[in-house]
Parts: sequence; structure tokens; C-alpha cells
Amino acid sequence: MKCLLCWRESESKEGLCFYHKESYRSLKEGYRRWCRAYGDMGERRYLERLLELPECGEWVKDVAKMELKRLKEGCDD
Ligand SMILES: [Zn+2]
Repeated sequence: MKCLLCWRESESKEGLCFYHKESYRSLKEGYRRWCRAYGDMGERRYLERLLELPECGEWVKDVAKMELKRLKEGCDD
């Protein structure tokens, strides 16, 4: 199976390759840290902020875009 975001092989249940899976993990960790530091903020807002950060890596941005798309397609709260 291919990674959802690139041409690399995926071995994870999320359908992501090693690099995107690691980015996914740090994205989720970052979100938890963000909530602890700034209070509970919607995940969508967090992802949108993240995409604006110049220091945010390309791998993480790929994953953030995917998550945003998923949030927009799903039911918004
Ligand atoms: Zn990938």
C-alpha cells in the first residue's frame, strides 16, 4: 500500500509512510502542547495556524492539510 501523501510505501494502519507517520505524531503532540499552553483551541484553528508558520516543515504541512480536509469533510462542531 502506498502512503496517502506521497509515493513511499506505507506499513502503518494510518496509511502513511514512515516520514508522514512521524509528522502525524508530532502534529498531534504539538496540538496537545498547544492546548496546555493556550487553553483548548479547535483542532482546525491549530492546523490553520500551523500552516502559516514558516518554520513548520513540509512533511508536517502535508499532514496538516490532510487533517484539515478531513475535518472540513466531516461534521464540524
Ligand atoms: Zn508519505
